[in-house]
Amino acid sequence: AETVLITQQSHEELRKVLGANKMAAPDQQKLVVISVSPQSRASLAVRFQLNPTDTARKLTAFFKKIGAHYVFDTAFSRNFSLLECQREFVQRFRGQADPKQALPVLTSACPGWICYAEKTHGSTLLPHISTARSPQQVMGSLVKDFFAQQQRLTPDKVYHATVMPCYDKKLEASRPDFFSQEHQTRDVDCVITTGEVFKLLEEEGVSLSELEPAPLDSLCSSASAQEPTSHRGGGSGGYLEHVFRHAAQELFGIHVTEVTYRPLRNKDLQEVILERDGQVLLHFAAAYGFRNIQNLVQKLKRGRCPYHFVEVMACPAGCLNGGGQLKAPDMPGKELLQQVERLYGLVRTEAPEDAPGVQELYERWLQGAGSERAGRLLHTSYHAVEKAGSGLSIRW
Ligand code: SF4
Repeated sequence: AETVLITQQSHEELRKVLGANKMAAPDQQKLVVISVSPQSRASLAVRFQLNPTDTARKLTAFFKKIGAHYVFDTAFSRNFSLLECQREFVQRFRGQADPKQALPVLTSACPGWICYAEKTHGSTLLPHISTARSPQQVMGSLVKDFFAQQQRLTPDKVYHATVMPCYDKKLEASRPDFFSQEHQTRDVDCVITTGEVFKLLEEEGVSLSELEPAPLDSLCSSASAQEPTSHRGGGSGGYLEHVFRHAAQELFGIHVTEVTYRPLRNKDLQEVILERDGQVLLHFAAAYGFRNIQNLVQKLKRGRCPYHFVEVMACPAGCLNGGGQLKAPDMPGKELLQQVERLYGLVRTEAPEDAPGVQELYERWLQGAGSERAGRLLHTSYHAVEKAGSGLSIRW
C-alpha cells in the first residue's frame, strides 16, 4: 500500500498531472493549487542562498511556470490549526469537553507521531490527542471547500498539491478521513517533499535564484499577502507557545510576555511552567524524537505524566529537520539545521487571531468559531489500529 501511495504522491505524478492538464480541453481542465510549507521554504532558501521572501516569490513563479494557477502558504492555514488547538485545550482544562477527552492534550500536527499512536498505544493515547487538523489538512479544507466555492467549482475540479518537509505527510493526505465520498476527491491530492521540489527544478532546468519573482497569492482579499508570515515558537509550528500564552490569559488572566523553555534530559525535551505564588498553574512540554515520545507514553500509561499539554513531534529537532528536507553533502547536519532555523526565523511573525483574513473566514466560511461547520472542516478523528499489517509503516 505504501508503494502505491509513494508512486501516486510523487513529483513525477505532479508533473504528469500538470502536463495532462495543460493539454486537456478547457472544460476538462482542473484548477491547480499548490500550498507550500514554511519549513520547505526555509530549506530551499538555504540551498539557493536567498531570503525567505524572495524564495516564496520565486517558488510561486516556478510553480506557475509549470502549470499551477495559485500558490498558497500553509502558514495561513496554520492560524486555524493553532486557534482550534487553543480552544480545545481551554475547554478540556475547564472540563467542558467530552469527558473521554483527557489531559494532557497532545498535539496532532505530526503524522509520524499519529501513526505510531494509532498503531501501538491507541486506547491509551488517542483520547489525549487534539482533534485539530494539521496545517496541511486545514489547507485541504480551505482549498477544496472555501476556495473551490469562491471559484464556482466543485472540489473534484480543483487539483491540490502541497510541499512538505516530510514523507509522512503523504500518509496523512491519504487518510480516508480526508477523502470526500460525495465528490470522490481528496482534500490534498498530492504531497511532494522539499527534496522533490529540488528534483523538479533540476528536471525543468530551472535555477530558483535566476527566476523572476512573482507576487504571492492569498486565499481571500482581506488576507492579501505582500510577504510571507510565520508564527512564534519554533520551526514545528509553535503549538506549545501559542496554547500556553492563550491559556495563561484565558484561564488565569496572566499576560505572558516571554515564554521560557527549560531543557530537561536532552535538547528535544523541554518544559514551560506558569506559576503563581509558588503554585504550578500550567505545566507544558515539548517532546521531539522517538526516545522522548516513548518515555512520554510510558509516563502516561503509568498515570505519572505531570503535563497539561505536550507538543509532540517525531523528528529530533522537529519539522525543520524533517526527512524530506534538503541535505547538504558539504555541510555538517548541525550547521545546516542552524542555517535553516535562522532563515525560518527571519520571517515576520503574527498572532493567529490577528492574521488578516482569519476572523473574516471564521464568520463567512465557517459560520462562527465553535460552529458545527468549524468542527467538521477543522477537526478530525483517530482510529486505533492495534493489529499488525495495516499497510502503514512507521519509519523512525
Ligand atoms: Fe513530519 Fe518530522 Fe514534522 Fe513530524 S516532526 S510532521 S515527521 S517533519
